[in-house]
Amino acid sequence: MNYGIDIWGNDNYIIENGQLKLKELSQPALIDMVKDIRAKGHTGPLLFRFPHLIEKQINFVYDYFDRAIKEFEYKGKFQALYPLKVNQFPNFVKNIVQLGKKYNYGLEAGSKAELLLAMAYNNPTAPITVNGFKDKEMISLGFIASEMGYNITLTIEGLNELESIIETSKKRFGCVPNIGLRVRLHSAGVGAWAKSGGINSKFGLTSTELISAVKLLEENSLIQNFSMIHFHIGSQITEIPPVKKALREAGNIYAELKKLGATNLNSINLGGGLAIEYSQYENTLFRNYTLSEYTNDVVYLLKEIALKKKVPEPDIFIESGRYIAAHHAVLIAPVLELFSGEYNQTKLIEKENPPLIQELYDLYSTIDKNNALEFLHDSIDHMESLLTLFDLGYIDLQDRSNTEVLVNLIIKKAVILLKDKHYKELLSIQKSVQERYLVNFSIFQSLPDFWGLKQHFPVMPLDRLDEKATRSASIWDITCDSDGEIGFNPKKPLFLHDVDLSKDDYFLGFFLVGAYQEVLGMKHNLFTHPTEVTIEITKTGYEIKNITEAQSVSDIFEDLDYDIIEIKNNLNTKIKNSKLINNNTKSHILHEVDMLLKDNGYLKNEEYR
Ligand SMILES: *Cc1c(COP(=O)(O)O)cnc(C)c1O
Repeated sequence: MNYGIDIWGNDNYIIENGQLKLKELSQPALIDMVKDIRAKGHTGPLLFRFPHLIEKQINFVYDYFDRAIKEFEYKGKFQALYPLKVNQFPNFVKNIVQLGKKYNYGLEAGSKAELLLAMAYNNPTAPITVNGFKDKEMISLGFIASEMGYNITLTIEGLNELESIIETSKKRFGCVPNIGLRVRLHSAGVGAWAKSGGINSKFGLTSTELISAVKLLEENSLIQNFSMIHFHIGSQITEIPPVKKALREAGNIYAELKKLGATNLNSINLGGGLAIEYSQYENTLFRNYTLSEYTNDVVYLLKEIALKKKVPEPDIFIESGRYIAAHHAVLIAPVLELFSGEYNQTKLIEKENPPLIQELYDLYSTIDKNNALEFLHDSIDHMESLLTLFDLGYIDLQDRSNTEVLVNLIIKKAVILLKDKHYKELLSIQKSVQERYLVNFSIFQSLPDFWGLKQHFPVMPLDRLDEKATRSASIWDITCDSDGEIGFNPKKPLFLHDVDLSKDDYFLGFFLVGAYQEVLGMKHNLFTHPTEVTIEITKTGYEIKNITEAQSVSDIFEDLDYDIIEIKNNLNTKIKNSKLINNNTKSHILHEVDMLLKDNGYLKNEEYR
């Protein structure tokens, strides 16, 4: 059972002695890190960041583009930028700036706030690109970045932005930023995030507007600042043909604009979109190309167009975010309860049993390898009948309880008896015998793309990987929302272990959560971003670089613009005035409430591990 790590794992993990380990230097087990950090008092869900997995992705992208450039003797240069919208958390951004130094890896900003971040943290000589809609303030900010010495390109989304740039350039005496034009392509992307491209796209200049733009730039003596065209056909582009189509279009636009007089135009920016493999299952792959195929196609096509149109080969910029960020973060969440944990033999109530329940007892005591499937079906049938009898008033609550306990016991036994049977047969019954795992995390906070787009994220336990997992699992988070569930899906079956949580801990890892999930996460039920930990792998073990506690309940209240003093005063007054509380215990209770306000809202008692 390897939960598809050979499909989605990117060669980042190995399984050894039943534990999931990082395939890096000392190859530490994730479960050891979890125990280590929990021993320091951090319970609840944890977000692990592994900087070596950021570096690996940056290296990949540069290596493969370099390879392609050498192979095709391409004369343009390659340069990558990290789009801040994918993950703006400080522990990620600071790492990526540091790790990207050797490549002069730049930052892409899509809003005023992101531009300010880029200006504060970018490596001094690394490029900045600015996309998205811009008002005059944002354009001025771009000029300030340029005056600070940054190599910054403002990409124009519409002619009005260009007019603002012209106006600003007349008012400011410092340097003018480079100007990029976002082109509106008729080719569109594919998949869940395809809306960024296409002729009806939200972004970019039409051919007519491009011609006007060049004219405007010339008339205002800014044509020498026009250096880049940009496009972005969507995120997680699952196949190559749309990329090639967009490149042909953009390559020809580049050449035509040069002929129109854009003498300093020298770069094509392909935006993001490089896909990663999220699937755990051979039959539902999300991506059907490799990085090497992508880089070869890009370089080859641009070379071909430049040759045909007799223009210099453009520098290639990319703004891949998902590809760079997704792998580095793993969400680790403790399992709190197995639904069937309730149902053990001690819960059976001794009484005169109706015949159908007596039959359930018989099924339970005589079930074996050969009849398991049949008995399982019988017991589920019996349960249906018994529940109907209850609704009609023929059996009582104790009978109903015995029914539930017995059927769950039979399921448990059958699943164990059947575990070596043919997988398909097992699968056929799994939907009706699934086990619910209550997990200490919020899907809304930590896997928003599952909630919003049904995006699959690989999930697996961190240990027991040498034991056969027998329970078909559905995963329930701790929000009070029925959407907070990852249901069992026979097409993407997840099998987990039948653990006795009163004896053992059991942790699930959710992988590839480093792109978009953190910042899109919602405070539904006021659960916040989990405690995050940056971990560096060393030759002898690993080093915990920093631990950032999850936001406290009072911090969230403040985010929502509550007056925290008012909340505290209200609580204090109500406790002090309560006639139901003994005066001697009031100060203790006040303290208790105060501690809860200072803590995060995830479950954390002994019994809620
Ligand atoms: C979102 C976005 C990106 C990043 O896309 P990924 O699919 O994460 O690589 C890059 N450039 C622009 C302009 C974007 O809007």
